[in-house]
Amino acid sequence: MRVLVGLDDHDSPEGGCTTHFATIFVRSIIQDRNEVRLLSLPRLVRLNPAIPWKTRGNAALALEVETDDPKDLFYSLVNLTEEYDREFSKGKKYGRQPGVVVLPSSHLQSVRQFYIKGLKDVVIKGDVIAKLSKLSDTYFTLNRGVIGSVSALGFAPNEGFTYELILYRKSYIERPNLDDIIKSQEEKEFPKLFFNYDYLKNVAISVPRGPDPVLIGIRGNDTISLLSVAQELVKSSSLRDVLDGAMLFVTNQHTGVHVTDTVQPRPYRSVKVRGVVLGTEIKPGGDVFMRVDSGYEVYTTVVYKETGTLARAAQLLEIGDEIEVEAVVKPSTEYGLLLEAEAIRIVNLVDYELSNPKCPVCGGSSESLGKNKGFRCRRCGFVIKSNKVAVPKARGLTLSRYVSQRPRHLTRFDYVEVSRSEPDPKEVQDLLHKLSELFAPKAGLNFI
Ligand code: ATP
Repeated sequence: MRVLVGLDDHDSPEGGCTTHFATIFVRSIIQDRNEVRLLSLPRLVRLNPAIPWKTRGNAALALEVETDDPKDLFYSLVNLTEEYDREFSKGKKYGRQPGVVVLPSSHLQSVRQFYIKGLKDVVIKGDVIAKLSKLSDTYFTLNRGVIGSVSALGFAPNEGFTYELILYRKSYIERPNLDDIIKSQEEKEFPKLFFNYDYLKNVAISVPRGPDPVLIGIRGNDTISLLSVAQELVKSSSLRDVLDGAMLFVTNQHTGVHVTDTVQPRPYRSVKVRGVVLGTEIKPGGDVFMRVDSGYEVYTTVVYKETGTLARAAQLLEIGDEIEVEAVVKPSTEYGLLLEAEAIRIVNLVDYELSNPKCPVCGGSSESLGKNKGFRCRRCGFVIKSNKVAVPKARGLTLSRYVSQRPRHLTRFDYVEVSRSEPDPKEVQDLLHKLSELFAPKAGLNFI
């Protein structure tokens, strides 16, 4: 039977990571027991970035496997979760609620709504449990993690995906500095590899700083480029004693699917709102507050200084400019709703301003002779019988989309082509085999 496995919340502030748990699952349940077979690459699914109770990137996992016994698979996963808590995450100490769902693939359409809602809105646990309880051969935990777990199942890679190749480190050994390798690899492969290096701060973004087992997560849209970085990393002697496994994930990262087009934003959603700038205020620290009229209501949008070029672009906006803001909506005691921008597309700029005409005789500037009386050239005295003229303004902005330099996991980049055709089971086996060949001989460990 084809089943979908959903996982969430296997991390804690002390350690662990749901992707790591999924990798261990693939290793220990799938590889060591022949009765369960992986049918596609594991899916790393980002959910609503505006959910207030997420601790980091609101990630959940989905895997598609073949098994004769979904119930046994579910209980094996629950046991593995207990072990993971003891060995890695210590999540119980922090009240984490790791979710596990096992659902026959034939029920996918019945739960697809939870992906759409989980991505864009708030999902209610009672709704999930009520729905899952009605489905045959379906097994699930009853805690909050069930929300992310079931939501992840509905992600359909053929609607657009990118990849993330994650390498893990052995028992939290300090991460070596990988800035140079990542920079040179991304420069070579860009835009097949993207958002792995911050060229302004000169540091690899793909290396996390927290206590989780991730050594590095490399983003890209091309498996050959990703495998070639893996090859370079394996060559690096500094990684020999650190590496502990790797997994290639298909993800909805950087596809922009979280954004809802609307004139009426609601709290805890990611929205795209088109409107006209009514005014901007640059705060002393550099944050920009703008009032934007959507035609339905006037909203306050903040563009934080940390968004870099996006904040600099927002500082140049003027009254009358037409923009499309992509933002997370937060309730605010001061503003009612506050839109925190992650991207702004400039639809139309107020390009012209009215000014005194230039002298047609000598090209000098002119001064007004009073209302409807024309202008006199300041240089040669010629009297120009005309009204003010429209002259182009130097705006320093173009009609394009400006994206935050601290984007969210789901933020779309215009230069990244999202893939739509998922590797088939044969390619999946090939890719996993290549990864395992790359990593296993180096560390002599249980590698994927
Ligand atoms: P990660 O560390 O894996 O990036 P995170 O720590 O930010 O993610 P989770 O550990 O996944 O977040 O915890 C988020 C919690 O919120 C989970 O319990 C999940 O079930 C729940 N959740 C996620 N999205 C929604 C949603 N749209 N509506 C309601 N609850 C949600």
